[in-house]
Amino acid sequence: MTVLPRGLGRSYGDSALNGGGAVILTERLGRILDLDTDHNSVTCEGGTSLARLLSFLVPRGFFLPVVPGTRFVTVGGALAADVHGKNHHVDGTIGRHVEELTLLTSSGEVLRCSPAENAEAFDATIGGMGLTGVILSARLGILPVETPLVRVVKRRARNLDELLACLEEEERLSRYSVAWIDGLARGPSLGRGVLIRGDHVPLAEMPRGQSPRGALSEGIGPAIPVDAPPFVLGPLSISAFNALYYAAGRDGTSLSGFGSFFFPLDAVGAWNRLYGRRGFVQYQALLPREAAAEGCRRLLEEISRERAASFLAVLKTTGPAGRGLLSFPRPGVTLGLDIPNIGERLRPLARRLDEVLLRLGGRLYLAKDALTDAATFAAMYPRLAEFRAARNRLDPRGRFSSAQARRLGLVEAP
Ligand SMILES: Cc1cc2nc3c(=O)[nH]c(=O)nc-3n(C[C@H](O)[C@H](O)[C@H](O)COP(=O)(O)OP(=O)(O)OC[C@H]3O[C@@H](n4cnc5c(N)ncnc54)[C@H](O)[C@@H]3O)c2cc1C
Repeated sequence: MTVLPRGLGRSYGDSALNGGGAVILTERLGRILDLDTDHNSVTCEGGTSLARLLSFLVPRGFFLPVVPGTRFVTVGGALAADVHGKNHHVDGTIGRHVEELTLLTSSGEVLRCSPAENAEAFDATIGGMGLTGVILSARLGILPVETPLVRVVKRRARNLDELLACLEEEERLSRYSVAWIDGLARGPSLGRGVLIRGDHVPLAEMPRGQSPRGALSEGIGPAIPVDAPPFVLGPLSISAFNALYYAAGRDGTSLSGFGSFFFPLDAVGAWNRLYGRRGFVQYQALLPREAAAEGCRRLLEEISRERAASFLAVLKTTGPAGRGLLSFPRPGVTLGLDIPNIGERLRPLARRLDEVLLRLGGRLYLAKDALTDAATFAAMYPRLAEFRAARNRLDPRGRFSSAQARRLGLVEAP
């Protein structure tokens, strides 16, 4: 029987599923083992959530070097996907900040891996989607911060070219940057949006009367009580939301708690239920910079043609690739789109989006993928053969597997 480690199940597709096999729940592997303030590092077990780590670290004056758009993921899940944040162009993926990890392999051995020790296993595990073994613990480099606040600068752009130019121009002004796109705007306004960039606030800029170590109480907002009926997210309501968001995104500077800046969706409990019973898929594409304008335009046009209104469309820039053999980011621009499940039209739409990516030298993100096929994936990831060879050496009997790994040929079918 095959097995698969699972974190908090926050990957969008089938990467944490293993139909016909077993799943190892890691949530109770959640202890913080050591904080080394002399060397700015933290050691914790693989099932520790980023939420728990941040509530431990921020009051002590530290932040994680890379965080994804939700804190409800585990360290193991974050390393297995080699997650990126709004600072990829500055800090790379989380994998760059892993000093050492311990891996439980299929033979029952616990392997210490780092860029210097068992480096092949390390490179296959960072971004390896749980297919090399269970990440039992990791030591991560951490970032000293003086306050829990972020200075946020917003700038509106009237169309895609303006938004991409804004991102290119302003990414070097801040550690973090991201742009929200109105996925429904068409014609000359296609790709209009708001660039949002941010930096940790130093103590000297802390507003008077606020405690520098406070501001940790940002909780989870009210949950969406039932699956929202389809009309709630019909093109009209999404269009109204997007128009309002665009109008509110006036140019300016403000201070924000770290939670609302880094994890805006965490404030809406069970936000995914907004898409109703039929749900949605995420499509996160990465395009080389020279193809970003054409690629984003084509993807947005295809989706808009199908009237698959995208509620959330997010654009980020990416810098140099990391070490992970299957890591997603490399230099370019990434566009993440929520696509509501439009039934039988969804797969043909995804095929067309994949074709755009393939033609322009782009790729998809495993942690978000639900629909692509093995040939497309292989064409996007030139180091796949290296990954499979490393994995076969670590797990010769093919004990670790997932639904996604079988669909995409990351592992041999049993
Ligand atoms: C709202 C939202 C925003 C997001 N934003 C971003 C973003 O900005 N950037 C980004 O990169 N990603 C982003 N993601 C994706 C998310 O960070 C990844 O899917 C992450 O892997 C989820 O972690 P998890 O603990 O829930 O893992 P799961 O979803 O449970 O598992 C994901 C993969 O990790 C493996 N895995 C889990 N635990 C272990 C372990 N201990 N050892 C070995 N393998 C393990 C699993 O086998 C599986 O293949 C976002 C997801 C959501 C829901």
